[in-house]
Amino acid sequence: MTFEYAPAPESRSVVDIAPSYGLFIDGEFTEAADGKVFKTVSPSSEEVLSEIAQAGEADVDRAVKAARKAFEKWSALPGSERAKYLFRIARIIQERSRELAVLETLDNGKPIKETRDADLPLVAAHFFYYAGWADKLGHAGFGADPKPLGVAGQVIPWNFPLLMLAWKIAPALATGNTVVLKPAETTPLSALFFADICRQAGLPKGVVNILPGYGDTGAALVAHPDVNKVAFTGSTAVGKQIARTVAGTNKKVTLELGGKGANIVFDDAPIDQAVEGIVNGIFFNQGQVCCAGSRLLVQESIQDELLDSLKRRLSTLRLGDPLDKNTDIGAINSEEQLARITSLVEKGEAEGGERWSPACELPESGYWFAPTLFTNVTQAHTIARDEIFGPVLSVLTFRTPDEAVAKANNSQYGLSAGIWTEKGSRILAVASKLRAGVIWSNTFNKFDPTSPFGGYKESGFGREGGRHGLEAYLDV
Ligand code: NAD
Repeated sequence: MTFEYAPAPESRSVVDIAPSYGLFIDGEFTEAADGKVFKTVSPSSEEVLSEIAQAGEADVDRAVKAARKAFEKWSALPGSERAKYLFRIARIIQERSRELAVLETLDNGKPIKETRDADLPLVAAHFFYYAGWADKLGHAGFGADPKPLGVAGQVIPWNFPLLMLAWKIAPALATGNTVVLKPAETTPLSALFFADICRQAGLPKGVVNILPGYGDTGAALVAHPDVNKVAFTGSTAVGKQIARTVAGTNKKVTLELGGKGANIVFDDAPIDQAVEGIVNGIFFNQGQVCCAGSRLLVQESIQDELLDSLKRRLSTLRLGDPLDKNTDIGAINSEEQLARITSLVEKGEAEGGERWSPACELPESGYWFAPTLFTNVTQAHTIARDEIFGPVLSVLTFRTPDEAVAKANNSQYGLSAGIWTEKGSRILAVASKLRAGVIWSNTFNKFDPTSPFGGYKESGFGREGGRHGLEAYLDV
């Protein structure tokens, strides 16, 4: 690890964080009915950033009622009018992107390089993309006049707080639905800033409502009888709970859950390019990515060469202050997540995996985990099966393409995979046999609002993004 930080960190003065924030209901910031609050903490410094109102059942009911009332007018607007609001929101996001990038980095712990160059441009792109659909729904292949569902109850995780919000809110509004969204408890700030953007854009009251809180707030939202559509991104365990809650109701539901992506490197792959893709695949956002390439499947004949290159590359990654624009590896989002990663890594060692990290000094305060490689891993090992959701790569080998496919598919999950080879025919042959919702070749973690995204197996069901993402919010 190199510790020569550039002396010009992105200034946190570009964002003005208030000491406290309310819930956003019916166009106003308001206290929780029972007055409850919780603190949001910066994971890189453990500094308290703000005190946030915590929504309870009464607040969920108030927000759903506001969304229901707003639905009548919002759904009756011509698509071209809804598009105007979405375009306006997209432009304000672009204008405020530096502020939002710093905010997201402070609340989440991820490097500013990522929030600035990946999260924020994708957030704006998502609103632009769905703004473009709002007046074309009759030409989307869903019949001449597809109808919105009503009130969407949306629950999102902390790993891409604003981007997950965009994935949920942009298609919901474009199709004429109204929204009650619950951000994750460790990253509520960007959703509350988004509420302010809705006001700035003049969005009618009640069309978007934001309810910070913990799991019980999410559970109350999902269970509310007047919610017509449930959209959830988060863990498989909570996804299953939500599926049970909505079973027997007429709510439509989409679940985007966990993953254990395989990054498959064949012996003819361009090694340097593959190494970059492997690093991006598992160390982007500290590996806290549902579609992370957390299993490296490398063809046996190039294992030594590839691992040497990979270790050299990992030794150049910079870990530290996420506001420093040269930082590659930021903080882990929470103490709880750090404990989960630590315990799985300890299990990996106990089961016989060989652990390696580059020489790396971790900052004293905050939640940190060094980039970690595990070799001597078999498919039976916990670290080859369970989602770690941290900067930990498990390395397995294969001899033939069939063996690579069998190992990649040997997972309860089916969200992502990567294929590295110079042979186009091999890309197509292997991709057609992989059970994964998104497959990249000779790249990894590339996102685009025009592409549908979602999982097979225990990675969930339904698709977000692209034209397919509209269907989840329409009665077709
Ligand atoms: P989590 O399931 O614990 O929490 C996600 C959200 O659900 C949070 O807002 C949380 O407060 C809420 N929640 C918790 N219990 C709930 C309940 N009983 N009812 C309703 N809502 C509830 O997940 P996490 O640990 O915060 O996030 C990490 C997980 O999310 C990983 O498994 C990851 O793979 C997954 N994830 C998936 C995708 C995807 O698109 N497939 C994207 C990002 C994260």
